[in-house]
Amino acid sequence: MAPCSALHAGALLGLAGHLLMHLLLLLSSGARAQEVSARSYTNYTVLRVTPTTDEQVRTLRGLEDRGVQWWTPPRRNFPCDAMISPDKRNEVVGVFTSLQLQPTVLHQDLQDSIEAENEADRRVRRSTPNTRTWTPFPTLPRRAVPRYQARVDKELQPLLTSRFAPGDAYINNQRYLDFEEITTYIKELAANHPNKVRLHNIGFTHQKRNMTVVQLSNCFECKYKAVWVDAGIHAREWIAPATALFALSQLAENETSTAEMREHQDWFILPVANPDGYEFTHKKDRMWRKTRSNTSVPGCYGADPNRNFDFHWNEIGASSNPCSETYAGRKAFSEIEALNIRNFLYANKERFKLYISYHAYGNFLLYPWGYTADNPDDWKLLRSVAEKVNAAMVQAGSQEYTIGSSTQVLYPAAGGSDDWAKGVAGIPLSYTIELPGFDFGFQLPPSYIDQVARQSFEGLRVFAAEAKKVTRGRSRSPTSRPSQRSFG
Ligand SMILES: [Zn+2]
Repeated sequence: MAPCSALHAGALLGLAGHLLMHLLLLLSSGARAQEVSARSYTNYTVLRVTPTTDEQVRTLRGLEDRGVQWWTPPRRNFPCDAMISPDKRNEVVGVFTSLQLQPTVLHQDLQDSIEAENEADRRVRRSTPNTRTWTPFPTLPRRAVPRYQARVDKELQPLLTSRFAPGDAYINNQRYLDFEEITTYIKELAANHPNKVRLHNIGFTHQKRNMTVVQLSNCFECKYKAVWVDAGIHAREWIAPATALFALSQLAENETSTAEMREHQDWFILPVANPDGYEFTHKKDRMWRKTRSNTSVPGCYGADPNRNFDFHWNEIGASSNPCSETYAGRKAFSEIEALNIRNFLYANKERFKLYISYHAYGNFLLYPWGYTADNPDDWKLLRSVAEKVNAAMVQAGSQEYTIGSSTQVLYPAAGGSDDWAKGVAGIPLSYTIELPGFDFGFQLPPSYIDQVARQSFEGLRVFAAEAKKVTRGRSRSPTSRPSQRSFG
């Protein structure tokens, strides 16, 4: 709050008025408190356990009702990460012990890790202030927290193969860019490559930020079939926008390496699908996931945009509670960000043969459906494409991805963008990709950007080739009519 101005001496009435004003200011700042101070995660712990029986999985899932937030949901034989508030820690560890599960510590004190991340960012920002600086990998300066840096050094995997020379990256890969920097970069791209890059403003966010889709084309008049990529629909999954941004920088600026991908095929890339949330994670709450709209419950903001799409909306794996991390919204497409994406995709749906949504984390290559355990009719095709993509990424040094339908591999979750893309827009190939988090979760150190982005890009090459082979069938009829928008 701004400091008080000097009081007029002796003015009792003035004093009373001043106090009243002060009180009003306090009240109004109270209402805006979440906008003012950053959320702290002091003494929050993140623990990893790997259940091996269905009984353990059931019990772990039940912990959600007792104050545990699962960053990766409990599944048999998979590492499952739980964020635990300080007051629940003993109780939760007690449950782990009773299940004979030995937890490993990802973040002893989450706030420490957030501060280390901020400190590292400040340092890198000083040495590479602009968006286009590229320095050979890896050059992260020593961190303020040696324990954290030691882990980065230890777990850093060398990039095994890459088709790029070191100087071929065109975007800062040393830190996570904020929304304004990303916007500046894509505007520069469009200005520098008017014959290859066009921007489409598909609408405003709740907080009036522009949502900009970058179109990459060798021939805008040809109206080639196209690939859609979005990233960061969940705000805290920072590696996702960084990966999409790397892809669009390569497609726009690396002619030789990407000629095949752009031949008779357009790309539409939305690097930040939830700009309000993304900004909020940079400024206020590193672990924010949802949009920033108002809800019916004071103090609870936003809906999960990836539960907000109008296809079997809110049937399963979503919440009707506005305070929940998976709140489906007050109705399908209540979130303007999801609505903007729908309007653009739907109006141009005949163009798209492939839909990709980058998320983090856990190394999953997921295809529909999220609303049912049933497979789509063409699941064999979806699976075989994913297997080829995985092979290419592994060849480039990546860990293996787990492949399957969202419901079968992760959990049921209706209202997801990938389900909608296939079920309503009729886009034949539709995937959600959970990028790696290694042992860091959402706070993947920026020294990993380069390898994750490059390895994912090798996967995109395969996706692009496979998309060309697929024919576009008729889409199912939509449940509601979106407004029509077209582009050149
Ligand atoms: Zn996500």
